[in-house]
Amino acid sequence: MASVLDYRTAVEVLKEYKRSGLDVNQLLDPERNGGLTYNDFLILPGYIGFPASDVALDTRITKRISINLPLISSPMDTVTETDMAIYMALLGGLGCIHHNCTAEDQAKMVRKVKRYENGFILEPVVMSPQHIVRDVRAVKAKQGFAGIPITKDGKMSSKLIGIVTMRDIQFLKDDTIPLSEVMTTDLITAPEGISLSDANAILASCKKGKLPIVDDKGNLTALLSRSDLMKNLHYPLASKLPQSKQLIVSAAIGTRADDRERLKLLVEAGLDIVVLDSSQGNSIYQIDMIKWIKKEFPQLDVIAGNVVTREQAANLIAAGADGLRIGMGSGSACITQEVMAVGRPQAAAVRSVSQFAARFGVPCIADGGVQNVGHIVKGLALGASSVMMGGLLAGTTESPGEFFVSREGELVKAYRGMGSIDAMESQKTGGNAATGRYFSEGDRLLVAQGVSGSVKSSGSLTKFIPYLQAGLQHSLQDIGVTTLAGLHESVNNGTVRFQIRTVSAQAEGNVHGLHEFTKKLFK
Ligand code: IMP
Repeated sequence: MASVLDYRTAVEVLKEYKRSGLDVNQLLDPERNGGLTYNDFLILPGYIGFPASDVALDTRITKRISINLPLISSPMDTVTETDMAIYMALLGGLGCIHHNCTAEDQAKMVRKVKRYENGFILEPVVMSPQHIVRDVRAVKAKQGFAGIPITKDGKMSSKLIGIVTMRDIQFLKDDTIPLSEVMTTDLITAPEGISLSDANAILASCKKGKLPIVDDKGNLTALLSRSDLMKNLHYPLASKLPQSKQLIVSAAIGTRADDRERLKLLVEAGLDIVVLDSSQGNSIYQIDMIKWIKKEFPQLDVIAGNVVTREQAANLIAAGADGLRIGMGSGSACITQEVMAVGRPQAAAVRSVSQFAARFGVPCIADGGVQNVGHIVKGLALGASSVMMGGLLAGTTESPGEFFVSREGELVKAYRGMGSIDAMESQKTGGNAATGRYFSEGDRLLVAQGVSGSVKSSGSLTKFIPYLQAGLQHSLQDIGVTTLAGLHESVNNGTVRFQIRTVSAQAEGNVHGLHEFTKKLFK
């Protein structure tokens, strides 16, 4: 009997077949599939020839700035303030500070992020010999550190005469003793102009907590902190510009006249990237604003948006945008599509905008609708360079606000859309009347485009972001690519394949048929 076995290798025989699945253009062909979103499709596995730890996730977020993880926190008042921005950046991502607050308060948050892990702290807290022990304790209670240089007149650029640390005052009962009596005067200093690595080496060898930097007259010009050195060791992926030890920070603003004044304060505070925060970014206001910023602050990168079509994107790219934010109506606390009948399913939006923007070297952020690692991978696979998350990060310790116990007895934190009535009311009263992402100044009636609610606690960002990172690395390993650039390339050249998911396939892909279960995502 003739053998049914084929003596060619399986790999040879495979050539007779069409490739499995769909390429990205077939997947998102509007004639065939309409507007898909993340849950509507899957990525087919490729070939694993490397460990997951080999997968690098560095990416560009603007034309000029790259970071190590493609993760950004939303400019929402229940998501990103100082702590979120610091930890997102320390862990390799980026925080975008919201603008539902006064310009001064927003600038203060930006400044704190920039000063957080300075190599050289250029504006340290300084005291004079006449300050008293209580003043040091107050700084310790408020800011958490107590290594304070003492200069002749209590300011920078004045003669350094001592340093006070917690050790000097720990056991003192009398809080009114002047610092002149307790400060250490036997000082190790480094000269102005020293390189950061040389200064680090002195600090590491001298076993002191702080290294004052002085000019040739002995005046204090900067301070180096050992705890910053330690932080450097613990956060190898931290987002920093080359040649800088400061964390990268972004912040959102609107497009009104007041926002130009606001931006000046933010730039003074050290802002690296400004995000123009509009739900529909294709407007004369945003185009004018981009042009003004490019003229006024050419060193500042501008992320424009939001957009969901190529046509919207084209105008903002032409105006000079360095990055785009994609998404309209996909946010978890968002009712824009319901109320305005305007928007686009997120997968379709991400693909069409990011493919177009790539022709101009403009990286795109897939903003909203990310509920799990899989959604992040899909956003990236469709061409985004990073994803922005609100709800997924709102339950972490680093988001603003306190945890509370819900009616069901679960630990939760408040999360609200910036277009919710609650958030808009606070924009009109306490916050920033000019935020105006979702309402115009003359509006007599507030039309909500978002809701307010709560999300479950997800613990500290210091565990959660590494979880997302590891999840992404494993996913890219399954797909068979070692970098995000490789993912984009393999999707574009048709190597990475996709499959549409029916509703029952979606049910199958989730936990099903169990009597009960607990879903613990990482440990
Ligand atoms: P999430 O990650 O799915 O929760 O979506 C966060 C994104 O939702 C934000 O980055 C904004 O683009 C968007 N967003 C925030 N507030 C609102 C709102 O009130 N209505 C519509 N979209 C919103």
